[in-house]
Amino acid sequence: MDPQLMIIGGGPSGSTMATHVNDIDSVIVEEHTAVGSPIQCTGLVHPRVVDMASASETILNTITGFKLFFPGGRVLEVSSNDPKALAIDRKQFDEILSDHAIENGSKLLVSHRFEGFKRVGNALKVHLSSSDGPRYMNTSLLVGADGYKSMVGKSAGLNACRETVRGIQTELDICLEEQDKVEVYIGNNIAPGFFAWVLPCGERTRVGLCVSRKYGTPNQYLTTFLKRRGLDKAKRVELNAGVIPIGPPKKTVTDNILLIGDAAAQVKPLSGGGLFLGMRSAKKAAKVAMNSIAEEDFSERSLSNYEGAWRSELGKEIERGILMRKVFTSMSDKKLDKIGEIMDRDDVKEILATGDIDYPSNLAAPLLKTVPSLIKFSPHVIGQLLRR
Ligand SMILES: Cc1cc2nc3c(=O)[nH]c(=O)nc-3n(C[C@H](O)[C@H](O)[C@H](O)COP(=O)(O)OP(=O)(O)OC[C@H]3O[C@@H](n4cnc5c(N)ncnc54)[C@H](O)[C@@H]3O)c2cc1C
Repeated sequence: MDPQLMIIGGGPSGSTMATHVNDIDSVIVEEHTAVGSPIQCTGLVHPRVVDMASASETILNTITGFKLFFPGGRVLEVSSNDPKALAIDRKQFDEILSDHAIENGSKLLVSHRFEGFKRVGNALKVHLSSSDGPRYMNTSLLVGADGYKSMVGKSAGLNACRETVRGIQTELDICLEEQDKVEVYIGNNIAPGFFAWVLPCGERTRVGLCVSRKYGTPNQYLTTFLKRRGLDKAKRVELNAGVIPIGPPKKTVTDNILLIGDAAAQVKPLSGGGLFLGMRSAKKAAKVAMNSIAEEDFSERSLSNYEGAWRSELGKEIERGILMRKVFTSMSDKKLDKIGEIMDRDDVKEILATGDIDYPSNLAAPLLKTVPSLIKFSPHVIGQLLRR
């Protein structure tokens, strides 16, 4: 039977949306044979994300601080007594979210790929493909939860994100002695345009990095980084690569269609984390979808309630993140080292220890108040940041 709501993509955003619609005939279409793989994620989230997913069984490790390595070798070590982030089993996380969606009545159609759609009256005729050949289904509301490449977004003429970075990560069969801190490395020779990380996950350790697209593939950077960190001899049990979209498109809705999660670039620009923003937005999309279905109004005007809702809660943080990223990517290694020198103070570390990984821009004002000389590194952009 034709569904009232068709969600393309069985990742965290798609499953979360399906979990929050009630009494609606919905189907999730996933191109892979099962949800949860391939994994393209470090799996580092704020504890609130695990709560949102009711998925405490996915927790592998609790992180209470970080070590920030500057290009010249300076290390800023920040500790706190609170759990600041959790390392999770991302495959299991996706599977649990998918189970919630199915328990809520959604159907999951795996091994089917969205290919495009045609407008037929006020509805859409959606073209799917599978190993059995093409399949067509009608729906009034189509949701693109299909990741950064979003074929739904492309077919609907919704613009892509502003920028992408490419990431690579390996999971090592090695247990680090220090388990409570994530290591972050910055520098244009290490991970140009982004950063590298070492995340202790109990018996295993995730090591990865991202680079801005203009620097090519991240593989060689990872090889060099593993060597530099002294982890090149450790047994690699997994290797995965992925792309992070940065900067949402101007519009995430059009008649009969809306985009959520990575498809809408609902990602933190500074860290690339997308689970929190995607899941929050998916919940808002579910509410608007229920109203649209109840009122049988699938116009862009009706669906723009979703656009307004997610932008008013999360848009400011994303825009501030884009500005912070602009400052960060404009820095030479020499300037980064100078910043490291200026910030290597107990009062600064105390401020950093209050940070929330989902709202990094909240640190900007207290940091600049404590160390006003930071402003000179990018007066114009930092000025814009403070005005937002
Ligand atoms: C290297 C790396 C590390 C990361 N680390 C973190 C982290 O530590 N914390 C964090 O919060 N975020 C992290 N992220 C980002 C996070 O993985 C994404 O933000 C998150 O997966 C987005 O969820 P989503 O459901 O929107 O999209 P996705 O997880 O990409 O799911 C999209 C789904 O759609 C399916 N699909 C795509 N096209 C079609 C089609 N045409 N037809 C049918 N199905 C289709 C895909 O198979 C997939 O299952 C990382 C990303 C990368 C690349």
